[in-house]
Amino acid sequence: MKEIRSMTLQELTHDLVEEGEKQFRAKQIFAWLHARQAKSFDEMSDLSLALREKLKETYELVTLEQIQVLVSALDGTRKYLFRLPDGHLIESVFMKYRHGNSVCVSSQAGCRMGCRFCASTLDGLARNLLPSEILEQVYQIVRDTGEKISNVVIMGSGEPMDNYENVLRFIRLLTDEKGYHMSQRNITLSTCGIVPGIRRLSEEGLPVTLALSLHAVSDEERRQLMPVARKYPLQEVLAACDAYFEKTGRRVSFEYSLVKGVNDSGEHARRLAVLLKGKNCHVNLIPVNPIKERLFQSTSRAEAANFQLTLEKYGINATIRREMGRDIQGACGQLRRDYAGASLSL
Ligand code: SAH
Repeated sequence: MKEIRSMTLQELTHDLVEEGEKQFRAKQIFAWLHARQAKSFDEMSDLSLALREKLKETYELVTLEQIQVLVSALDGTRKYLFRLPDGHLIESVFMKYRHGNSVCVSSQAGCRMGCRFCASTLDGLARNLLPSEILEQVYQIVRDTGEKISNVVIMGSGEPMDNYENVLRFIRLLTDEKGYHMSQRNITLSTCGIVPGIRRLSEEGLPVTLALSLHAVSDEERRQLMPVARKYPLQEVLAACDAYFEKTGRRVSFEYSLVKGVNDSGEHARRLAVLLKGKNCHVNLIPVNPIKERLFQSTSRAEAANFQLTLEKYGINATIRREMGRDIQGACGQLRRDYAGASLSL
């Protein structure tokens, strides 16, 4: 069965017209699916019963089941655990900022990149998410909170460049003017540095922000933290980021997780500044979120501030990521693991 929430308006129109329906029906259905985040065909009250029945027989409509939500009493951050139609679990996060509400979505169930400090990758990749399954994370949160979401960061579990087609389709659907119509400029895609993916994205004509997970200042050190660095050396990754900026005019964000005693010395800060010298970029410092399966420790707040100061002295724009939902913490991928672990031991 075709899966309707992953279809573009054009595809849906083509199908329905072929079935003998009027063209405007496709627009109506598309609006129900994306502008109004319908959970079922029965909600589509301006369609005839007969058409609703026909849609049910023809199409699968993907929705997510909300398993758990943890709400921060400090800042309203909400961490969601969702179940996919085939039983896999994924996480998404809702955050409130002064500039608007933001949702962090997962692009895969699990991940095969193997970054040493990350919980999402510990059990490897389960599967890619469908465009509808990525969209539904946003839509379910819209339904649950009744709030408007102005920003999406593709920074949850998974490597978006490893699920390129579906992620691109997700971006196009979410920003469709007949759908939820989020601004493309308010979408950030974070990658561990898959060079062909970055190059391809720069050709799409999409003004989305690219975030690059850097985390180290030399290939040798990067390879220790991120196996993907064995395939794509820093020089190639940074050249692809430069090309991204040239093609799109969008300033690239570099993410740098600070790990105590590993990549957080003053010398590291200076070398990072040299590496990024002259680039129109922004550095996001993230004190690492320790996961229980690994021994990494977080850099202290004071040391992170020093690191930031050094970068700024060298003219590099840097911020320390504000910790959201400190009281409901658990690094990315932990909620899913804890829940899956608990169910297994029942
Ligand atoms: N695969 C993509 C997007 C998902 S991870 C990527 O690698 O960019 C989003 C960001 O969180 C990445 O920068 C990742 O390196 C970082 N991250 C993962 N686990 C973390 C942890 N325990 N503490 C701090 N940052 C972490």
